[in-house]
Amino acid sequence: MTPEEKEILVTRASMPSYEEFIEEIKPIWETAWMTNMGEFHDKLKDELKDYLNVQNLLLFVNGHMALEMALQAMNLTGEVITTPFSFASTTHAIIRNNLTPVFCDIREDDYTIDVDKIESLITDKTSAILPVHVYGNVCDVEKIQQIAKKHNLKVIYDAAHAFGVEVNGKGIGTYGDASMFSFHATKVFNTIEGGAIAFHDPSLEVLLNYLKNFGITGKESVEYIGGNAKMNEFQAAMGICNLRHVGDNIELRRQITERYRERLSGISGIRLIPPKEGIKQNYAYFPVVFDGFSQTRDEVYELLASHRIFARKYFYPLITDFECYRERFADVCLPVAKKAANNVLTLPLYAQLSLEEVDRICDIIISGK
Ligand SMILES: *Cc1c(COP(=O)(O)O)cnc(C)c1O
Repeated sequence: MTPEEKEILVTRASMPSYEEFIEEIKPIWETAWMTNMGEFHDKLKDELKDYLNVQNLLLFVNGHMALEMALQAMNLTGEVITTPFSFASTTHAIIRNNLTPVFCDIREDDYTIDVDKIESLITDKTSAILPVHVYGNVCDVEKIQQIAKKHNLKVIYDAAHAFGVEVNGKGIGTYGDASMFSFHATKVFNTIEGGAIAFHDPSLEVLLNYLKNFGITGKESVEYIGGNAKMNEFQAAMGICNLRHVGDNIELRRQITERYRERLSGISGIRLIPPKEGIKQNYAYFPVVFDGFSQTRDEVYELLASHRIFARKYFYPLITDFECYRERFADVCLPVAKKAANNVLTLPLYAQLSLEEVDRICDIIISGK
């Protein structure tokens, strides 16, 4: 295969070497302890508290179940304000908790929730706000905190994209009442599948631990209607290995992002997210908006695909346009989110992507052929 023909996918999972992983999991054959909060689980939990710069953290089988259980543990009722410019999980978690999502529009510059539009959506039924640190971009956490305090609302962040992000030296997971991180294979840091909740009130820990293990509270007692959302030892071992390399990987992602920025900024009709002061980024995604460019987003997508380069329309469609929701939310009108969904493309970005490959992708976009 010539380099010209090499397929490039939008992402590629980070993995330790085969030898490193095999060495790591060897002890499991002595203990035969494969799940239910074993040594690997506890070790990873401690290491992640440190890395994410948070006080309280629990591990889960995946990010989605972590989010569902965070909402359940908060004992919410009625309506939850969120955005539809996210992955299916965000709204599903609300609805699967028998709560009603109320959709807020997003900002045009970084696609996070538009804080100026939150208060007009608050009713006497509102119990929480569920904003998304989309692409790892930090929401206006201070303003959201003010609004929540004024109206006595909980704040649960979907921080699935925001692993390792810090604001003025504080871990992103320290904001709000809780934050969900995803450790899915496609994320900046992975445990194959996996997730975590960082939370503010330490007394939530006991309840969350019960919820993720069927609500079992003792040998002969089940006090809560929980589920099964425990992270197993193989997942935790993968996490322990990957955590050793995540710093190097983020540095490689930074270099790739810089290269994309150099090549694509200043081109008429191409909009990039401006970097913010005081934020330690994780370079999780590289979203590009085509607005007034010589080709539409869909045309750029097809052009790249014809070169076997697979970018992703992320997020398209909006959650409110999903088959399972479109009738229910037919009246929702969010022009900024709609426009973003129609014009955005996330370009390939993963630690092993070479700068030559980035150049090739940019050459194709710029030349239009
Ligand atoms: C990945 C993701 C999730 C779900 O996490 P899983 O670990 O895949 O269950 C939730 N929200 C967003 C925004 C995501 O990208």
